[in-house]
Amino acid sequence: TGRIVKALSGYYYVMPEDADASSGTIQCRARGIFKKKGLSPLVGDRVVFSRTENGEGMVDEILPRRSELIRPPVANVELAVLVFSVSEPALNLQLLDKFLVHIEHAGIDAVLCLSKQDLTGGSEPSDDEGAQGEAAASAEAVERIYRPIGYEIYHTSSRLGEGMDALNQRLAGHLSVFAGQSGVGKSSLLNAIVPGLSLETNEISSRLGRGKHTTRHVELIEIGGGGLVADTPGFSQLDFTELGVEELSSSFREFRPYAEACKFRGCTHVHEPGCKVLEAYHEGAIEASRYDHYVLFLTEMKEKKRRY
Ligand code: GDP
Ligand code: ZN
Repeated sequence: TGRIVKALSGYYYVMPEDADASSGTIQCRARGIFKKKGLSPLVGDRVVFSRTENGEGMVDEILPRRSELIRPPVANVELAVLVFSVSEPALNLQLLDKFLVHIEHAGIDAVLCLSKQDLTGGSEPSDDEGAQGEAAASAEAVERIYRPIGYEIYHTSSRLGEGMDALNQRLAGHLSVFAGQSGVGKSSLLNAIVPGLSLETNEISSRLGRGKHTTRHVELIEIGGGGLVADTPGFSQLDFTELGVEELSSSFREFRPYAEACKFRGCTHVHEPGCKVLEAYHEGAIEASRYDHYVLFLTEMKEKKRRY
């Protein structure tokens, strides 16, 4: 068995699972049978392969996937490192919740990484507004809201080389992707974590928004401790077209125990009498910003559905 770490021009590059990393990958073709079945091997797939006479290999079987991302196309991602900078761009909790919904929905564990710690500098997050017009949040707010509901939080500065060890240890033994909006420092973090890597990093001012990564091929890079990380950030396009109400509400992980106790089947947790989620929100057991974002996303979701 092995793991596909790169796919290019009809070839799959498989890293044997038993061998140590230094022995390199084996260039493989995939059996025609996959195409017939409408199934194609993905980067991240664990596969059974055999060696062919020309020194190459053949992917014979794709082992069951535990998750499947579409952008970038990677199978078996276990962990998403959701990166938000404390400043430049401003920390936006609405966007953070939006990313979390998509990560939870994909069935992937999430940890939060608050980057650019060197920019905290004690100044008030005053008139600095997030992309969606929300006031900028602080690292303290993220700690207060997200740690109690079970998200681990890492504080890093690529510039000062701080916080890398803890994050590195968390990545060991897992297949991870980094996620987060442009300019938060994902590439800089990867460069700091992976010895010898030099992904291009961009200044916010000269950035063209999306498109930076669209033409690239995703590749898994090895990090210490048997970890693999995708060199292309995940969850680059966020909309709610493929989500249902129940999927949306269960993506807010702290809602789950309350939602289960709601009286009505299919409760939207907005107006229904006897709604336990609403009750928890009114009692302060669910954070107001989280609940507000839920309602906002629900509205956005319904509007999108009407248009399609
Ligand atoms: P990405 O779009 O998320 O991959 O972000 P980049 O890694 O390209 O970084 C965007 C900008 O933020 C670049 O100008 C980096 O130099 C800068 N940056 C990245 N990490 C840090 C950091 O820890 N501190 C500071 N002050 N700037 C950083
Ligand atoms: Zn309810």
